[in-house]
Amino acid sequence: MADHSAEAGSITVLAGPTAVGKGTVSTFVRENYPEVSLSVSATTRAPRPGEEDGVHYHFLSHEQFDSYIEEGAFLEWATVHGLNKYGTLKHTVEAAARAGQKVLLEIDLQGARQVREALPGAHFVFLAPPSWDELVRRLVGRGTESPEEQQRRLETARLELAAESEFDQTIVNEHVETAAAELVQSMGITPRTA
Ligand code: 5GP
Repeated sequence: MADHSAEAGSITVLAGPTAVGKGTVSTFVRENYPEVSLSVSATTRAPRPGEEDGVHYHFLSHEQFDSYIEEGAFLEWATVHGLNKYGTLKHTVEAAARAGQKVLLEIDLQGARQVREALPGAHFVFLAPPSWDELVRRLVGRGTESPEEQQRRLETARLELAAESEFDQTIVNEHVETAAAELVQSMGITPRTA
């Protein structure tokens, strides 16, 4: 990336454990704050019902994803929950930063650590659940994973919760609108809701 410092200043990384509501909070931000560009990640996982290619993710084959890795096209990428690869394409972030937009990356902890290495001047926000029991309730309640997958994600979540102190700021996701308001405020935008 050509000018790391200029870019880093406009980037906010939102990470946190599975099912904490990162997707819901970032979707709320995308729908209510057009001045924020939510980075569309690439992934090898299959689309869920209602998910659109190029909107929620760039859905790639394993071969396509691996060739992007070889080309050095990713700012960061990781195998998440031991199953699929997810990554942020450099050009996605560069284009938004060049357009003067605030860029929000909703990624996992491994990815957040890589961005910290590449762009230490970015802002790092940890989204935390109100409690462990509430996190379990949200994961089981959304019903999108098999019991085995839920178990795997909860194991990862335990490790991710321990990493909170690596972040610049913690936001507790009790209510989506309030969490989104705190998030945009941390990006230098005046919240219009909550
Ligand atoms: P899901 O499959 O539920 O959409 O996402 C699973 C996990 O992948 C979430 O924790 C999400 O934050 C993470 N994730 C989504 N996009 C990226 C990305 O571009 N990079 C990394 N490292 N993780 C991502």
